[in-house]
Amino acid sequence: MSQIYGAKSSTLQTLTVLGSTGSIGKSTLEVVARHPDKIRIFALTGFSQVDLLFEQCLRFKPQYALLVDPDSANTLRTRLLPTGLDVEVLTGSQDLDLLASHDSVDTVMASIVGAAGLSSCLAAARAGKRLLLANKEALVVGGELFLSQVRAGGAKLLPIDSEHSAIFQSLPEDPSTWNDRIEKIILTASGGPFKARDPQTLHLVTPEEACRHPNWVMGQKISVDSATMMNKCLEVIEAHYLFGVDPSKIDVLIHPQSIIHSMVEYKDMSVVAQLGTPDMKVPIAYGLGWPERIESGANKLSFQNTPPMTFEDFESNRHRERFPGLLLAWEVLRSANGAPGVLNAANEIAVESFLSKKIKFTQIHEVNLRTLDKYLPRSAKSLDDLLALDLGARDVARQVVEELSSSK
Ligand code: NAD
Ligand code: MG
Repeated sequence: MSQIYGAKSSTLQTLTVLGSTGSIGKSTLEVVARHPDKIRIFALTGFSQVDLLFEQCLRFKPQYALLVDPDSANTLRTRLLPTGLDVEVLTGSQDLDLLASHDSVDTVMASIVGAAGLSSCLAAARAGKRLLLANKEALVVGGELFLSQVRAGGAKLLPIDSEHSAIFQSLPEDPSTWNDRIEKIILTASGGPFKARDPQTLHLVTPEEACRHPNWVMGQKISVDSATMMNKCLEVIEAHYLFGVDPSKIDVLIHPQSIIHSMVEYKDMSVVAQLGTPDMKVPIAYGLGWPERIESGANKLSFQNTPPMTFEDFESNRHRERFPGLLLAWEVLRSANGAPGVLNAANEIAVESFLSKKIKFTQIHEVNLRTLDKYLPRSAKSLDDLLALDLGARDVARQVVEELSSSK
């Protein structure tokens, strides 16, 4: 059964962008700016980026702006005062839920990074919003509970991750037919900056090198995840929940040019793919416009000038050795009981620790493995259970980081 629910929507949408100051948030506003007749901004949120949120307020005139950090919110309030704009400035994480579930909101772009976005995603789901999901970690942590809230609220969950948008675009309209027809979901992966690097030298990778993705410009966390292929690991879990397919039916194929964004292989061996330039404005516009198509502002794909498309099996060319984290997706889905959330929490701590140079690039996987080993997953039946699981796993991961960094 599919996990994408809900009815079709009206023409003028009011939109809350959670994480408007991030990479996806900014691309979302670029698309929105092209459609003032179709989309009106209700609320914009960030963590502490006063200057950028101030500029976004001037341009999009939302009713609400939120910065999680209270001092930054105060500064924003003071700067907005002389402009005469009627923007109410909020602060703290709890009000994210309010802005995601407000009666005046039709659509929520979930583009906060990490499990920090879980609560607001669930709030939007329960309130029956059109929920555009970039924040894959929220679905990885929330799993079945997330889906049950989408169902209960009658929300419409649409993928923004380019691979999942591609799969959604390659599937028939009626989700009840998916499971019977799908042979495989083939998630493509660029392989990131280290796909040809000697695995024996990966321990020398610096944060700057890891954040330099060959095809996409993204936030730091997802850039590091792409370099370890933990991003693909999270995406396998995301695909399992979004499309309701067994993990054994999900394959990963390395495609360095990032032109085919993913594919569906059907029972009759027909393969349907979605192609385009690597630009997140395309899946964002698809989510905002669905079921219609609206302009994204992305460049046209020029087949004549596109480099030859190549594909590499994940099993070959020492990719398994380079990217050991990817296989954890199938492992945690097999053990379930909160294991995907534990892995996500460990990985968030590991990435943070790598970026602050506490651990080496290759130790990210060690932190993830050791945290999974040490932490006994348990079933989570509520948001509080999930948050407790997340906090507990973070504590364990921090201990592992300490052990690793003190034995350097
Ligand atoms: P980013 O780091 O550029 O932006 C993150 C946003 O979340 C910012 O607005 C930041 O202020 C906000 N934020 C950070 N911590 C927060 C907290 N604790 N509470 C509230 N807000 C907080 O990240 P991004 O690259 O835009 O990615 C956002 C999400 O979209 C991630 O889950 C990522 O995996 C997913 N995604 C990103 C891309 C991409 O191309 N960037 C592609 C596919 C999926
Ligand atoms: Mg992706």
